[in-house]
Amino acid sequence: MNFVILTLFPEMFSSWLGSSILKRAIDKGVISIETINIREFAEGRHKTTDDRPYGGGSGMVMKPEPIARAINKAKERYPNAYTISLSPQGRLFKHELAKELLQYRSIILLCGHYEGVDERIHEGWVDEEISIGDYVLTGGEPAAMVVIDAVARFIPGVLGSRDSIKEDSFTNGLLEYAQYTRPRSFGRAEVPEVLLSGNHCRISRWRRENSLIRTILKRPDLLANVSLSKEDIDFLRKVNQSINAIILRAQRELEQ
Ligand code: SAM
Repeated sequence: MNFVILTLFPEMFSSWLGSSILKRAIDKGVISIETINIREFAEGRHKTTDDRPYGGGSGMVMKPEPIARAINKAKERYPNAYTISLSPQGRLFKHELAKELLQYRSIILLCGHYEGVDERIHEGWVDEEISIGDYVLTGGEPAAMVVIDAVARFIPGVLGSRDSIKEDSFTNGLLEYAQYTRPRSFGRAEVPEVLLSGNHCRISRWRRENSLIRTILKRPDLLANVSLSKEDIDFLRKVNQSINAIILRAQRELEQ
């Protein structure tokens, strides 16, 4: 899969691409990531890429012509590339969208700055706007890194083990179970006994139940789309009964 980043600050990507798991994937030829400096497509002695907004107001707006030329340049190489503008006004980037983007052989990511890019770019030059969250960044570069990183993890050959993806948070709709490593005792906390048992069936059941509880506590909104097995339902019933018993006892104590 090929990623082309259109940016005014290509140097922001050098340390990210010079290390990390993604560098290994690039070296292996599993993915390619390149940057195009939008400024190289600006005209005039000063290579201006921004201008004052029509209608007045503070800040500057990225001019459309250099961006359009940069997109054309990227499309010379990847004519069918899917073109994304990173924008706080775009579709929210989540697990499902990261998987959806896997269908494209090549993706162009446009990083905005200042007050954003001239709207005509969004109307005629990009396939969609994507936001990494409901907040405003100073520029699209961190968002491009987030999108590339999350998509690349799904590409075979990027991660050392494909197994780790299968149990990651969101894959089956739940958050991942708690993870532990050595030492067995840390402070006053011990690793749960079941994880030392060597009984894979029990470990796998414990992990599923731990996932369910963590999701209920941390992200109950996710549960609406999770399909539960009979074992899951039995487990949740038991938890529910225990909680109800605790509440009843506490209520009685209060009333006495
Ligand atoms: N004035 C714009 C608005 O209110 O919608 C925000 C512009 S922001 C300061 C500059 C650039 O940062 C944007 O063009 C976009 O590329 C990037 N950016 C900011 N927040 C983002 C987000 N949540 N997701 C993706 N990109 C974002």
